[in-house]
Amino acid sequence: MTDIVSTPTALDITAMWCRHHAHLVPNAVHLPLPASQHVSCGLCGSKQALQVRGHLRFGADRWVNDGLVTHCGACGRFSLPETYLQTLNLLPHETLTALDARLWSSAPTFLNIEPTTRCNFNCWYCVGRHMKQADIRVEDFAAVLGNFPSLQAIALVGEGEPLLHKGFFDMANMARERGIRVTMISNGSAFSQSVIQKLCEAQIAYVSISIDSIDPATFASSRLDGDLNRIWDGIEALAVPRCAWLPLSPHRLKRHLVHAHTGRNPRHRDRSKATRG
Ligand code: SF4
Repeated sequence: MTDIVSTPTALDITAMWCRHHAHLVPNAVHLPLPASQHVSCGLCGSKQALQVRGHLRFGADRWVNDGLVTHCGACGRFSLPETYLQTLNLLPHETLTALDARLWSSAPTFLNIEPTTRCNFNCWYCVGRHMKQADIRVEDFAAVLGNFPSLQAIALVGEGEPLLHKGFFDMANMARERGIRVTMISNGSAFSQSVIQKLCEAQIAYVSISIDSIDPATFASSRLDGDLNRIWDGIEALAVPRCAWLPLSPHRLKRHLVHAHTGRNPRHRDRSKATRG
């Protein structure tokens, strides 16, 4: 939907955003946010917009740090709400002249945290295989959360398999108890029933599974030591439990997980062609 509302209530800054940060576009497929965090788009009227932050320069040298930028998932445009612009008390000559997506901040709301560099796979391209193999200490993780009280979300990711960290759920629960939304990326190899149960109990908001390819030969050529059939089993097992907090049905969850990372519908895969390791 790309309608233009009869009277836009926001300044369209899409061209400027794309000129400076074409690669930085919120992706609702990979990181869906709850509807409660959506706002109205002042350009098309959709209720699928999100607020992101950017440093804004008005006129020659007036910078507004952490400015409120709206990105609409329906029309795809970036804008500044008029109501927000009014709060800045801009002078007539102070038009928007520059935009710096918030790549730095003294009060970050999102962090990627790497629980471990260890992994049970040995992908040929993985930088983590050439790093010191170590886990973050749970007390250091707690210190990170303490140092950034502004955090709203974290992603447990990195050059290792997060679920190999024995304190993974201690860390996830610690973050959630502080009101921080927890997401993670896994290689999908460790989804035993007990791990799945703990993932549900920890209310991990988003589990992203990186599998490189759904073609067994391609998978085997990059995910050395990996077993694609085991990954499929894990995904299917993860899709079964329907937790009360989960907005997706098990069936939709499975499709969502796989489609998001491969662009292909798992219903179309032919497991008879897969080679069991
Ligand atoms: S699964 Fe990920 S972390 Fe593990 S070796 Fe492969 S690329 Fe590295």
